[in-house]
Amino acid sequence: MRYDQARWSDEDGYEPLLSEKNSREVDIETPLPDDLTRDSLELPDLSEPELARHYTRLSQMNYGVESGPFPLGSCTMKYNPKFTEDLAAHPSAAVHPDRPEETVQGTLALLGRTAEYLAEIGGMDDVTLQPPAGAAGEYTGVLIAKAYHEHNGDDRSEIIVPDSAHGTNFASAALAGFDVVELPSGEDGRVDLDALEEAISDETALLMLTNPNTLGLFERDIEEIAEMVHDAGGLLYYDGANLNALLGRARPGDMGFDIMHYNVHKTFATPHGGGGPGAGPVGVVEELTDFLPEPHVRKRGGGYELFEPERSIGKVHGFQGNWLVLIKTCAYIARLGDEGLRDASAKAVLNANYLAEQIDYEVPFGPFHHEFVASAGDQDAADVAKRMLDYGVHPPTTKWPEIVDEALMTEPTEIENKRTLDQLAAAFDAVADEDRETIEAAPERTSARRIDQVSAARSPQLSWQALENSE
Ligand SMILES: *Cc1c(COP(=O)(O)O)cnc(C)c1O
Repeated sequence: MRYDQARWSDEDGYEPLLSEKNSREVDIETPLPDDLTRDSLELPDLSEPELARHYTRLSQMNYGVESGPFPLGSCTMKYNPKFTEDLAAHPSAAVHPDRPEETVQGTLALLGRTAEYLAEIGGMDDVTLQPPAGAAGEYTGVLIAKAYHEHNGDDRSEIIVPDSAHGTNFASAALAGFDVVELPSGEDGRVDLDALEEAISDETALLMLTNPNTLGLFERDIEEIAEMVHDAGGLLYYDGANLNALLGRARPGDMGFDIMHYNVHKTFATPHGGGGPGAGPVGVVEELTDFLPEPHVRKRGGGYELFEPERSIGKVHGFQGNWLVLIKTCAYIARLGDEGLRDASAKAVLNANYLAEQIDYEVPFGPFHHEFVASAGDQDAADVAKRMLDYGVHPPTTKWPEIVDEALMTEPTEIENKRTLDQLAAAFDAVADEDRETIEAAPERTSARRIDQVSAARSPQLSWQALENSE
């Protein structure tokens, strides 16, 4: 497959801002005091077609899950079906969050049902829908664990996190004031029970795990792990980012996990990327339901009500969280049903294993669940990633987990069929055969070449004023 990304630019080499295309001074009249207002404002002045073209051009210079395959490991970049967008855009979804409960029973019922679906899928007893992302869910879960131990008069200072965990696990634990104990992985890429034994103590508040782990490997000893942690008085947290591998087949609650988050923008096909909006509901077992954030939804008589759980950790987000995202989650789960969810996990696992077999790069470990981690070997994984864009596919996640040299963490998800998987494999193999010079110069055919990723992440300029001030 040959790919040439659109490149729209004026003499300055980029698609101009709306205000640069055409703008005009608009007089402002307001009843506000003079010292709080300006006299005039420069606003873009464009026709509707000009506006539509601007945004279409920007989208053509980007790469998304609707451009081609997007096997970004751990992120579960599924196609987001359009029917969920239609439902979230329905006029009746525009509900003021302060409306009296008795006038928004439909809204509360939808929230209640979403929480029930998620609880059932995860094997949890109750679910809060408030946290706006997986990382926020982790932080909420850690605060619940902290409140639980404190309530029991049991002061515990440590959280154990495996070395293969997502960076947010370390950050959530540290942000809540815990010391992080890093757990080295065993030879087989899984939790090493001896190392765990050594790490656990009466200071252990929580062990955070994802299962299957970030190498796509199922933690077969999970029941024993849960017993070890519980025997020491600790709790077990499930990072739900990899739940796509288990949907309808196994439940974290049944494995012994006490708290978990769901990344609905990964597992349940709500849009993802660019920093949100997503949602990271948190499920807990019976013993912890009193600590959930408020307000919380529950059934009451024939309807639903909001209430504050007895020992609530408080609010973690405004109102009920990202409501429109939760509509999409509910709709997706309802449309797929039990059979559909089981079918999704089956295909996700089959696709990862098929692709791992096809590619020329070395793939240590296996067999896999929803993702696999290949090694770029002598090549630099970041260069491989950039070069893959030239073949019209989004690259895998690179250089993580560090257990695999030059890691290419690949997750095709269930949405791809064999034709697309073969196209992906062909892209991997084409890059594997290329020389260093070619891949170091990549990407050639994208609208932006190598960007300064560190500056983009560390000092982003997210507004026109910020850009102007920086010049
Ligand atoms: C994505 C991810 C997270 C964080 O979730 P966000 O929704 O991006 O905040 C945590 N753990 C793992 C393994 C992940 O892949």
